[in-house]
Amino acid sequence: MAFTKIITPGSQDFHEPVAQLIKFSSRGLHGSDLDAFIKRASVQFVDKIAGMRFGPGEEPVHLLAVGATETYGPNRNGDGFKKATCQQYHPTFVKLARWYRDHNNKDTRKGRGIIKASDYNPKMHRIELIVALNATKEAADRNRGLVADEEMEKLAKGEDIPVSMAARVSHDICSGCGNHARTRKDYCGPETCTKYGGLRDNMAKTFEDGHILHADNPDPAFFDISKVFRNADRIAFTLGRAKAAADFRAACDDAAAVPGEARGGAAIAERLGVSPPLWMLTDGPWSDPRIVGQLKIAQELIQMEDKLADSVPAALDRAFERSVQPVRGGLPEGPFKLAHVITALADARCMLPLPTFIAIVAGASTEKAAAVADAVAPRLAGVYNRLASDPCLEEDLRQNPYLPQNQAPRRLRHWALKYANEWSLDRPRVVERLQLSVLRQPRPNQRRQPMTKIATTAKTDEMAKEYALYQLGLLQHLASQPEADFRHELAIRSNFLQ
Ligand SMILES: [Zn+2]
Repeated sequence: MAFTKIITPGSQDFHEPVAQLIKFSSRGLHGSDLDAFIKRASVQFVDKIAGMRFGPGEEPVHLLAVGATETYGPNRNGDGFKKATCQQYHPTFVKLARWYRDHNNKDTRKGRGIIKASDYNPKMHRIELIVALNATKEAADRNRGLVADEEMEKLAKGEDIPVSMAARVSHDICSGCGNHARTRKDYCGPETCTKYGGLRDNMAKTFEDGHILHADNPDPAFFDISKVFRNADRIAFTLGRAKAAADFRAACDDAAAVPGEARGGAAIAERLGVSPPLWMLTDGPWSDPRIVGQLKIAQELIQMEDKLADSVPAALDRAFERSVQPVRGGLPEGPFKLAHVITALADARCMLPLPTFIAIVAGASTEKAAAVADAVAPRLAGVYNRLASDPCLEEDLRQNPYLPQNQAPRRLRHWALKYANEWSLDRPRVVERLQLSVLRQPRPNQRRQPMTKIATTAKTDEMAKEYALYQLGLLQHLASQPEADFRHELAIRSNFLQ
């Protein structure tokens, strides 16, 4: 369990622009440009940049990232990063973060710049970064990312950029009572946090003795620096970005309006559905190979969700229509263990459709399972995006009950093979189903679920998550067999069907 926290733009005031171009000529940094940089940056940084090389089209930007609590206090969201923490953890920016927009951090190919260097400025008591933005298409291609055109336009005009950052922390600590919390549910209240009444109700509140009650974040892994969009920006934008901008602003405004934990960076991250890219988790203290394997596949499934959300239905979708995948009770005869059923199906490369999964797992009748599946289906599109922000993800993957085991009894293997033409993810079987669906139902069902990235506590979300864990277990079991990408696409396509 862990937190994802957002550090919103302007949540700490440095009394100078957060982002500034470094005017670097081919001969290096000289004259007034050097003087300007020295005023902002630490001495070590000035030395460091002298030895740095930037490719053609890469523009260096000096960024003020995080100020130490001892000097600046906690940020406006009631999150603090102590001096020692800043000193120890600033390198995570270089290792894990890229420059994104609107926290779209799941695909590094959507990055618009890399973090070249980080440092703790001991005079100004803050983490500072050198970011190399892709100012040209050439630089973007070379760095396998996108062009930072809006960013360059703003910087060239001398305007500041609204920058939002995100970090993952294993736990945070109440500045009042020292309570350790791994999720917001663990936050202290007035009963234990006697002096300041607890983070739950009073996060970011200033008391008469001058103390601002806040959460100290002792081990941040900074993984995302994003330019966020402001409604005042007069650059052409798409509807999707305007909505993201409105959502972001509403989340910040609502957080500022109420005291307590809703103000914190963790609550804002949850509301916006911001989470770390899963490849990052595979590098953490969660290196259990079973977890890492599932995380890697989940990461690919998330990218597939993002891709399908922007595309039109395709012929492949028809392999999952009810005309070729009828709802079945599907239960094998006689007593059986769920693990054995899962294993037999995985060995036959079969993926249970949602209604049959519900019938088997919940022991529901065919009719009941179909009704539940109708309610759950709208929550499947985007389920992996939501899984990524689930604070219990590592634990869920470790204990995933749908991981296939070694061997299933022969009786169950025969049972699974009997349904392979309906449930198999093998290409020949899928093609057969496509052909059959055209015969049975000439007009395809062209409706798609819209993707929902924000989690709810509804029962339908819980069942959608169970099904996602089931798919993950299956896909991981088959990961070493040919055509893994094909199976991943099929799984996500089936989740988007209405
Ligand atoms: Zn407390």
